[in-house]
This record gives sequence, C-alpha cells and structure tokens, in this order.
Amino acid sequence: MVTCQSCNSLNTDDAKFCNKCGAPLAPVAGPVYQNPPSYQVNPQPVYQPMVVMNSKSRGTAMILEILPGLFGLLGFGWIYAGNTSSGLIWLIGYLVWIVIGVIISVVTGGFGAICVLPISIGAIVMSAVSLNNYTKKHPELFGNS
Ligand SMILES: [Zn+2]
Repeated sequence: MVTCQSCNSLNTDDAKFCNKCGAPLAPVAGPVYQNPPSYQVNPQPVYQPMVVMNSKSRGTAMILEILPGLFGLLGFGWIYAGNTSSGLIWLIGYLVWIVIGVIISVVTGGFGAICVLPISIGAIVMSAVSLNNYTKKHPELFGNS
C-alpha cells in the first residue's frame, strides 16, 4: 500500500494518483540494480550535410557538350554548366569553323575534309576536356566526386 503524502489515505501499490484527493503518488522504489544492463549502441549513420542542393550532373554537361557537338553545335554543356559566355564562344567559334571547313572542303574538291574532320573532332574533345576541368573547379555546382 502507498500512503498519500497529501491526505495520508492509503492507495493500492499500482495507483499513480491518490483515490481520495487526486494528488500524484510517489512511485514505489523498485529494486536497485547495481549494474544497469549495458548494451551496444549502434552508431548512428552519419549523414553528410547537403551543401549543394541543386547539384548539376557532370555527366549531363559532358553529354550536352559532345552529342550536339557531333552535329556542329558546341557549347551547350558550357551553358548548362552556367558558363554562358564560354558556351557562346564555343558555339559561334565552332559554327564559323564549320563554314570555313566546308569552304576548304569544297575548294579542295573534298580533299580538305581529311584535315577538316580531325580538327573538328579535336575541337569537340578540347571543348569537352576544358569543360570537364571547369566542372572540377566548381564543386559548388557539380560536387566533389
Ligand atoms: Zn490523497
């Protein structure tokens, strides 16, 4: 039995409040464990704070640069990467080069295309490589991986 500390009436052991006055009853002291059971706490998984909320994809930038580049349109990867000025330089520069290349090919009766084609592919590779370097210098846009 538990004695209410407010009104001294007796209550059952499992009562949390006095039956008579409603005062909260002191909990009955249970057996005291000298050594509380120890258990292994699983370490909480550490979540990396998301610094970059709208991280762009490096792969998407590469695809946007190389795929249209094969059709004569360079610079879209750059524009996607947020570097519009470089993208426009690549776009316009490459279009000018294609016009020059076509003229060279026509003037040389197609023979010049042997030179024009590797230079065109080289320009796409150059643009893609420098864009890749650009994305690595801007982890705030593309993350560190
Ligand atoms: Zn009471």
